[in-house]
Amino acid sequence: MAVKVFIPTPLRSYTGQQSSVEVEGANVQEILSNLTRKYSQIRQHLYADDGGLRSYVNIYVNDQDIRYLAKEQTSVRDHDTVSIVPSIAGGSGAVATAERDTRLHNDEILRYSRHLIIPEVGMQGQRKLKGARVLIVGAGGLGSPLALYLAAAGVGTLGIVDFDVVELTNLQRQILHSTGDIGRSKLESAREAVNDVNPHVKVELFNTRLTSENAKEIFADYDVVVDGTDNFATRYLVNDACVLLGKPNVYGSIFRFDGQITVFDAKVGPCYRCLYPAPPPPGLIPSCAEGGVLGVLPGIIGTLQALETIKVILGKGDTLVGRLVLFDALGFTFRELKLQKDPHCPICGEHPSIHELIDYEEFCGIPSTDLNGDGDSEISVEELKAKLDRGEDIELIDVREPHEYEIVNIGARLIPLRELPERTQEISPNKEIIVHCKTGERSGRAVKFLKGVGFRHARNLVGGIQAWAARIDKSLPQY
Ligand SMILES: [Zn+2]
Repeated sequence: MAVKVFIPTPLRSYTGQQSSVEVEGANVQEILSNLTRKYSQIRQHLYADDGGLRSYVNIYVNDQDIRYLAKEQTSVRDHDTVSIVPSIAGGSGAVATAERDTRLHNDEILRYSRHLIIPEVGMQGQRKLKGARVLIVGAGGLGSPLALYLAAAGVGTLGIVDFDVVELTNLQRQILHSTGDIGRSKLESAREAVNDVNPHVKVELFNTRLTSENAKEIFADYDVVVDGTDNFATRYLVNDACVLLGKPNVYGSIFRFDGQITVFDAKVGPCYRCLYPAPPPPGLIPSCAEGGVLGVLPGIIGTLQALETIKVILGKGDTLVGRLVLFDALGFTFRELKLQKDPHCPICGEHPSIHELIDYEEFCGIPSTDLNGDGDSEISVEELKAKLDRGEDIELIDVREPHEYEIVNIGARLIPLRELPERTQEISPNKEIIVHCKTGERSGRAVKFLKGVGFRHARNLVGGIQAWAARIDKSLPQY
């Protein structure tokens, strides 16, 4: 029996970039075993050391999560589809706005006329929008269309949480900000853009990193929280704070060409922890900064989040509560998977074990100090320059991807991190080994691996090629 297995973008490098492959098998266990036999590198991403499926990878047969069927024994038939859905580095009733002043002035009535003549919105709906208080976490790629469309639609109060400044690399997708905003606070830039679109919107700014200490206090005054963040620690924090406060959480996430969107509302449906009980280990799934994202993708996913936010406020239509939508921009496909509330969920289940916010950095395994390990395993760009100037015989290895090498390189031997385990025989065991990547994060992992297989003198170039371009050879481009 052959079924089609959908391969998520992060794993496609192991299937020759195929987005789906045909695999034989009578149940999920056989399918996955045949899949990983054919594409052996996928195995470590799907299975933990104890042989069980990893908790941050969910498997669906058609639109059903196998955890609620017969797990890996779930049988499959011809023409079924099996989806591997890893977590990627986010209908309830209408929001109650009755006590708030939601009267519309004449210029607002004219502004929203195309809403007012839709019966599902009308005066009543527009007044609900005006009374609504929506918190956007992150003024970046997803936060941009969210803030602009929610403002245009007439959401009365928008809170925005962010602490970054606008950088040149943001402008490829973060349309809240313009070239003239580089170096300014994202919040100030966002407030200006939002009020340009609609001066009636009250903008409340939180210039801070969202933490376990401040999240509940910030969320408390809002009706809906929209997650536009880009890291797992904040996603779990947003989820837990929303569950504890009983707020809907409009979730969206993006990576390269893939987007995910749903609405978590633990009062009536599942939460993020029901979907992904535990985060992936740090570094396994690259961030957008490391893995990249197509510029228009956050526009699409963020706009869909804005749509769902408006429906949650109006209490109209079927929201995405209990449904996860996957968008593959390259294949142009939308797929919908059913999400179930997990009765054993540690925060929204029948016997929750989490009653307060926790340390999310620790939960996600992010070391509080240096990612790259001990000082003996590191070298600065200045030290490397001095060694090269002295003509020392060094094995310099670049573990980035070939397309990054094409952007800029310093003549190192290119062995992408994912190929390293199979290409160690190319590395001279007698030379001093120095490994670099873009920022030092991937090469830190490469050095750890190399030391583990006997290259005890491997060292990581701190700051990567970005530091080299900033401090040694300023003629090189940064990206
Ligand atoms: Zn839950």
